[in-house]
Amino acid sequence: MIPYNKPYITGNEKKYIDQAVKLGKLSGNGHFTQLCQSYLEKITGSNKTLLTTSCTDALEMAAILCNIQPGDEVIVPSYTFVSSALAFVRQGAKIVFADSRTDHPGIDESKIEELINPRTKAIVVVHYAGISCNMDLIMKLADIYSLYVIEDAAQGIDSYYINKQGTKKHLGSIGHLGCFSFHETKNIHCGEGGMLAINDPSMIKRAEIIWEKGTNRAEFFRGEINKYGWVDTGSSFLPSEILSAFLFAQLENLDDIQRKRRENWQHYYDNLTLLSNLNQLKLPFIPEYATNNAHMFYIICNSLSQRDHIIASLRKHSVMAVFHYQSLHKSEYYKNKHDGRILEQTDRYSECLLRLPLYPDLKEKDIILITDIIKTII
Ligand SMILES: *Cc1c(COP(=O)(O)O)cnc(C)c1O
Repeated sequence: MIPYNKPYITGNEKKYIDQAVKLGKLSGNGHFTQLCQSYLEKITGSNKTLLTTSCTDALEMAAILCNIQPGDEVIVPSYTFVSSALAFVRQGAKIVFADSRTDHPGIDESKIEELINPRTKAIVVVHYAGISCNMDLIMKLADIYSLYVIEDAAQGIDSYYINKQGTKKHLGSIGHLGCFSFHETKNIHCGEGGMLAINDPSMIKRAEIIWEKGTNRAEFFRGEINKYGWVDTGSSFLPSEILSAFLFAQLENLDDIQRKRRENWQHYYDNLTLLSNLNQLKLPFIPEYATNNAHMFYIICNSLSQRDHIIASLRKHSVMAVFHYQSLHKSEYYKNKHDGRILEQTDRYSECLLRLPLYPDLKEKDIILITDIIKTII
């Protein structure tokens, strides 16, 4: 069987977990947490990073940090994973769903402004497949209307936005806050894990408090205050040292992991270029302001029935290809709360996008098998 994802193991995970056990401190914010955080601050260029137990947690922290309350509106693309909206719904916000671009599944930057009103507090952007949204356009809107920008960079490790001056900025380091996932389906992982990048320096102190159950314990452990207590809202968002030790092994191998993923991504692209040139399907589009971190390889089929046909044929050969997402504005939970606008591109990706297996250990012969099956059907 060829699964659609196979969590990568570097071989050093157990060694670092053993070290963490020997150090004798297994709760959060210890040796490996701090190692990972400084490593990630170097990679992303963010002012401050805090490991969390998931990207969902990081998004929840972001919603708290932006003081999202009932009556507030938050603009979120409909074509995304639930967590991008859920974290804000839990704070009582109304979600105003935005449509995707015609050339790739990211939010359509040109259609955001018409959704903004005096109740709008924040824009959530999702860098789908690790491909950047046009951040200059989004940050400009945020500036004009005084909105927070939260980047859902769950899929965005090792990927960049390139601005007009040619400067590369790591995804998740551009908005006020950036949220990353280290779930086993992402490029680097620790089973379940995540990170909040705090790019607005004025939010750092409060972020640490929210991270540690509303207490100022982080400051206390640095010796900056002589006792700690309950000072704000929050939760237990920090992961144990066991998870951080696992994650550190992955971080150290980031370059190796990424090289293998990129090679596999390119094999798919090359094998399917002819079909794309014949307009039989669409391949991922990478705008000039974005880099590709090979998080995902997807194709866009011409119709729902063509996609169903391809999925079924791949299944027959024990290849697991999956589609996503079900648009959030049509989900069981939100369909009655949505304002009724039709989101044409979201619906199209929801019906036609197909995600093919991609992981570092995938063999070139497997990719040939998969692309041959697709060619035969089409
Ligand atoms: C994976 C993913 C999430 C959720 O990440 P978890 O770490 O599982 O909470 C959120 N948003 C997007 C876009 C994702 O791909």
